[in-house]
Amino acid sequence: MLLNESVGECDSIAVEEYPSRAVIDLGAIEHNAAVLRQDGPTCQHMAIVKADAYGHGLAQVTLAAARVGFTWFGAAQLAEARRVRAVLDRAGYSRDDVHILTWLGPSDTTWRGAIDDDIDVSVSVVSTLARLAASAREAGKTARVHVKIDTGMSRAGATLSTLPALASALAMSVQDQTVDVVAAWTHLARADEDSPEGLSATATQLDRFDAGLEILADAGIHPRIRHVGATSAILWHERACFDMVRDGIGLYGLSPNPAQRTARDLHFRPAMRLEANLEMIKIVEGDQAVSYGGTWTTPGPRWLGLVPIGYGDGVPRAASNAGPVSVITPTGTIRTHAVGRICMDQFMIDLGPVSDAENAQPGEQGPDLGQYHEPPAPVGSRVILFGNPDDPDTPDVPLADEWAQVADTINYEIVTRIGPRVPRVYIPATARP
Ligand SMILES: *Cc1c(COP(=O)(O)O)cnc(C)c1O
Repeated sequence: MLLNESVGECDSIAVEEYPSRAVIDLGAIEHNAAVLRQDGPTCQHMAIVKADAYGHGLAQVTLAAARVGFTWFGAAQLAEARRVRAVLDRAGYSRDDVHILTWLGPSDTTWRGAIDDDIDVSVSVVSTLARLAASAREAGKTARVHVKIDTGMSRAGATLSTLPALASALAMSVQDQTVDVVAAWTHLARADEDSPEGLSATATQLDRFDAGLEILADAGIHPRIRHVGATSAILWHERACFDMVRDGIGLYGLSPNPAQRTARDLHFRPAMRLEANLEMIKIVEGDQAVSYGGTWTTPGPRWLGLVPIGYGDGVPRAASNAGPVSVITPTGTIRTHAVGRICMDQFMIDLGPVSDAENAQPGEQGPDLGQYHEPPAPVGSRVILFGNPDDPDTPDVPLADEWAQVADTINYEIVTRIGPRVPRVYIPATARP
């Protein structure tokens, strides 16, 4: 038997009792929303807040987005869509004005939770429609549907060959008023690529979407809203904007393809800063292995710093020996990187050679080696793993993109995987001009 007992207030860690934190600049989210709106000025925008708002915090980001006028929210999972509804209800946003879309749920769900919470559901197959319509009937409500067309991602969605059957089933449910087809939608696989292959894949998807809309029209279904593009389409594919776009990574201030255009090029402000306090600093003599597996060896007597955050907090272990950091000291910022393997709760950084290293005898133990030299950064200094390099308070910090590069992943994964153990701290939008 599975247990899922609530532990009430015990599940989040107090910021003053933890040596690291993710600082979320809600003003940056507002700024990025305005930048995206400039690029897609004529259509509606849906704020994508799935996966705890890409690690930034579902409730805070939802409220910040609602305050700047978003009336559409997207969350992948039904469970998180219901959390979005609870947050908006509590803040007094009317369900008539603010809509939420979800596109994944347990395979056996009746979708009754979506009906009760007035959440729009993506429908790709007739069996989902049947369960959703049954729940709507039971509740005496009309289910709001976004019909999803698979235009080339080969993920969810009805392909052009299965769409006619789905369309006629939808038409019947519309007729008996159990279903309202609010929207038709699809998702692009390569909108972030400006290569000929990427551009042609996107063009093919858009052609198929048009064909899908015709199939729906032939069945008498005329969705009020067509939505296709996520951040990369807002930025780079005007043709994909239709009636609504879905603002994801750009809202959080990161580029969907930093190799093509950086966050700075796009005038985005990265909203998350991940930082820890330097827990300890020490001299380690030359030729000493550092961390598990001894994958890095001091090239001479070195100052090493202990950073109390690790893969248990979502820092990727794949960034061992490489993950960049900026250490903020009273005399300036030291740019350095992880040395040795990243552990579950901590990793070491190189803080440079001990100034007159020639005085150190090879093999000599550390303690009295250090007392003649000034540590390059005091214990307690802020160590910033990533943030906004254009923030005057934290100049020259790495971008999440740099961690993505050394961990062989994308910036989306870096921010999204920052775990629940790391306290989130919010800078209110009004705190900045
Ligand atoms: C995550 C997601 C988005 C947002 O994509 P970004 O690239 O982050 O803007 C939009 N639509 C769907 C279906 C998604 O899953």
